[in-house]
Amino acid sequence: VEEALRQAQKMEAVGQLTGGIAHDFNNMLATVIGPLDVLATRLGDSDPRTRRYIELALDGALRAAQLTQRLLAFSRQQPLQPVALDPNRLVAGMSGLLAHSLGSSVRLETVLAGGIWWIHADENQLENVILNLAVNARDAMPDGGRLTVETANCDLDHRYAADNAGVQAGQYVLIAVTDTGAGMTPEVMAKAFDPFFTTKQVGRGTGLGLSQVYGFVKQSAGHVKIYSELGQGTTVKVYLPRLLRRPQQQDANPARAASALP
Ligand code: ADP
Repeated sequence: VEEALRQAQKMEAVGQLTGGIAHDFNNMLATVIGPLDVLATRLGDSDPRTRRYIELALDGALRAAQLTQRLLAFSRQQPLQPVALDPNRLVAGMSGLLAHSLGSSVRLETVLAGGIWWIHADENQLENVILNLAVNARDAMPDGGRLTVETANCDLDHRYAADNAGVQAGQYVLIAVTDTGAGMTPEVMAKAFDPFFTTKQVGRGTGLGLSQVYGFVKQSAGHVKIYSELGQGTTVKVYLPRLLRRPQQQDANPARAASALP
């Protein structure tokens, strides 16, 4: 519990600090981008070399602005809008987007459990979580590999809860994202959820992906755990509390609905 609390406090402090800085920085960037834009337009085609330099500067400033947008989004404690949803449908619906983000050298596999329980979660943010995990997996497999997204019904028992601070024993839906990539050292794994912790090059990683995952899962009364073996790959397991009753209007297909209910 103490560990979870420490992490939450850290996220909040960093979030507030970041929000303030990002906001001011964004305003300063506007005073750079505006004039550069005017300059580039005025120059037209009269001086292509000078124009090229201006465009380079503009490009850099726009990228910085993009980063501050992401920081602002991170620091804003966006309220969740949970809805009842079928995790299998959500994962299946993402396969096009996932395949596109993974590129051609990574094979995508989905293993969807039959009779899956429904969950109560913010659909957009859960999609974002899965996408974040997939992008990390892709980055860990520069030479290609396999990404598996798996769903399962899962009981976390009291022993598991006792061993994992902050976990409430009960019935969860597991969404696991596994890659066959580089894996993490124990040192990286220990810091992976920290905001701004990244091992990636400047401009490639913000170190916010996993801390966003952590924040979402905590807010959703769930649990997230990383298993990683150096040189073998990584599995990130996201557990979300199951919905006990499926909402009435969703039981359109009686056969399927019956098989999913306990
Ligand atoms: P970012 O991806 O911007 O670096 P994250 O918070 O998503 O930020 O990840 C933090 C760090 O955790 C990464 O820089 C990387 O070192 C490590 N990491 C995350 N996911 C994986 C993975 N699937 N395989 C190996 N390392 C990972």
